[in-house]
Parts: sequence; C-alpha cells; structure tokens
Amino acid sequence: MNSHLKVTLDAPLAHLNTFGIKARATALVEVGKPGAVPAAIDLAKRELPSPLLALGDGSNLLFTRDFPGTIIRLTANRIRFDALDSDRPEVIAEGGSNWHRLVLTCAKEGLWGTENLALIPGTCGAAPIQNIGAYGVELHESLSGVEAFHLESGEKRMFETAECQLGYRTSRFREQDEQAYLLTRIHLRLTRTPNPRLSYPGVAERLNDAELSPLAIAHAVAALRQQKLPDPRFEGNAGSFFKNPVIPEDQLAGLLDEWPDLPYFPTPSGQIKLSAAWLIDRAGWRGFRRGGVGVSTKHALVLVNYGNGTGQEILDLSHAIADSVQDRFSVRLHPEPRII
Ligand code: NAP
Repeated sequence: MNSHLKVTLDAPLAHLNTFGIKARATALVEVGKPGAVPAAIDLAKRELPSPLLALGDGSNLLFTRDFPGTIIRLTANRIRFDALDSDRPEVIAEGGSNWHRLVLTCAKEGLWGTENLALIPGTCGAAPIQNIGAYGVELHESLSGVEAFHLESGEKRMFETAECQLGYRTSRFREQDEQAYLLTRIHLRLTRTPNPRLSYPGVAERLNDAELSPLAIAHAVAALRQQKLPDPRFEGNAGSFFKNPVIPEDQLAGLLDEWPDLPYFPTPSGQIKLSAAWLIDRAGWRGFRRGGVGVSTKHALVLVNYGNGTGQEILDLSHAIADSVQDRFSVRLHPEPRII
C-alpha cells in the first residue's frame, strides 16, 4: 500500500462536514500528497465501492444519507510562492490547505487579492468549485489556474482560469464536470500594488487609513464574519444555504411597489441581484426551529444543525423556506451547498 494513502472502511463523516451531519461513507481514502492521487483512484476503482466523491473540509455540502461509495480526500496542505519579490507573485496551494490560512499567509507577505475572502470556511481545492466570493471580491479575480485529476480516468489536467468557467458561486466543476475532478493545486496571481476593496458595509468602518494593508482588511473581514455568522464548531452550518437570486430588471418595479425597502443590486449583465437573507427574514424564518434543525438567529441565510439534526431535515426545511419565499415574492431560491 502506498504510504501516502490511508483507507478507512465504514468511515464516520460528522467531523468531515461543517453541518456535523452524522453520515457515514462506505470507504474513505485520505491522500497525503497530490502525486499519490492516481494511486488512490486506482485503488478505489479496483477494490472499493463506486461512485467516487472528492471532499475537502465539507463546508459547502449537505449529506442527506450515508454515502454508498468511496470518498477521496486530499490532506496535502503546502503553500508556496513563486517570484515572491516581484510585483505580481504567484501563490500555489495544495488542495487540502485551509483557505483562511492561505489568506493570512498572503496578507502577511503584503500581497493584495484575497484579503476580502478571509475566514471563508473550506479548503483551497474547494475554492474554485463555487468561485468563493465575499465583500465584493470573487476568487476568479486572482485565480490563474487549477491542477486536477479526473476521478474516472485518473488523468492529470491543468485548467487555465477561463477554462474553469467561473460564475456567480459556480464553475464547470459544479456544472458539466460536477464531481468529475479532484482539485489538487490552485494557482493565484496576487499583487503588491495596493488595491483596497471597501465598498461593502462594515469593512471600512473597522479600519483607519493608517492601517490600510491586506492584513488589516483580512482581520476586519474576519471580525465582521465572526460577528454576523454562527460558528460551525458550535452550531453546525455550511454558511449561506441559498444563492442570492438574480431577477430580470422588469420584475423589480412590482416588487418595490409592495416592498419599498427591498435591497437590490444591479449586476454587470443588467439583471438585478436580491438579498436572499432579506427575503427569508421578511418571510419570517429567522430563528425558526424544527426538531434538531433551524434557521440561525444571527443570519437568515444560514441553516443550522443544533446537534442531532439530519441532512434530510435540513433539506426539507430548505424546501419549505424556498416555497414560502416563492409564494410571497415570486422569486425562486436555489441552494448553494452540494446536496449529496
Ligand atoms: P450584507 O451586507 O447583509 O448584504 C446582503 C447581500 O447583499 C449580500 O449577500 C451581498 O451580495 C449583497 N450586497 C451587499 N452590499 C453590496 C454591494 N455594495 N454590492 C453588491 N452587492 C451587495 O451581507 P452578509 O450576508 O453579511 O454577507 C457579507 C458578504 O459575505 C457577502 O459578500 C456574502 O456573499 C459573503 N458571505 C458568504 C457566505 C458563504 O457561505 N458563501 C456566507 C456569509 C457571507 P453578495 O453575496 O453577492 O456579495
């Protein structure tokens, strides 16, 4: 057996998903370095049950049942720089690296580009899958490439950023190539040229001009998130459960007639982005609790497992919320996490 592979049969998954759902996988293969991924795929295809599922920290997925196949999880977590002294250094992170550690590592080097994405839970390998975004910045702005292995063929492939088809909380890895690849390294191109992005409420208020640096912004964003979002260590959750809905411009006037304080944001495509949290809050769901699950009291977009909830209970609750928002506002909400 390859020394970089660790196989567990009938593996508990509660610590591998931030909802803390007590699901199990028929098999789990943990892979200690990217170069061992082909051996892991080969082993899984020969000796372990299908299908294969790539998993990071489980911060953007919901297990609604035991997983009947094999989970492959890259634990390799090296972060290194290329041309660090240049104006546009590259950072290369192995897929199992914690995303927030990457943000802090880059910010401490004085590099701009990821600071607004501080404290987003999850691994670097998971970041491109939903094109993580927060506080007016998305990963696509700094991503320069992705290394991945195809889970069926075991072949390695490099993707340029354009080939990743990154969109609003989506990418090819959530569309035509959903669950087809294990992302083993990401490459980001950052800059030493100051580029503070402070348009979102709350960030600038936590800073003063004297301390404007990537690290100061990362700390400000992290503090804001800690204040506004429940901590998954105490209340299992996967961050935003729904994407912000995007509606045609001609639907906006009718909504504003009825809801004059509706927040809305024009997008570059001319459509209108609404705040899913506001819609859910107005539909009366914030703080709602049923069985072991509910809607966070802190943030209406966050569904919570209070300890003994099941994934199915969370999914059922999400359907009830989406239906009630649809009835009230004629707007459909779509989940952000992957439902397994
Ligand atoms: P908020 O300030 O209460 O705003 C609610 C929504 O309005 C946000 O989702 C945001 O959309 C949008 N928004 C606010 N100011 C905007 C602006 N100047 N231009 C365009 N859109 C604007 O937001 P919040 O819920 O506390 O979240 C703050 C940031 O953290 C947001 O960027 C949010 O996406 C991110 N966040 C992400 C997760 C996750 O799990 N993915 C969880 C919590 C928060 P956008 O979402 O498009 O930015």
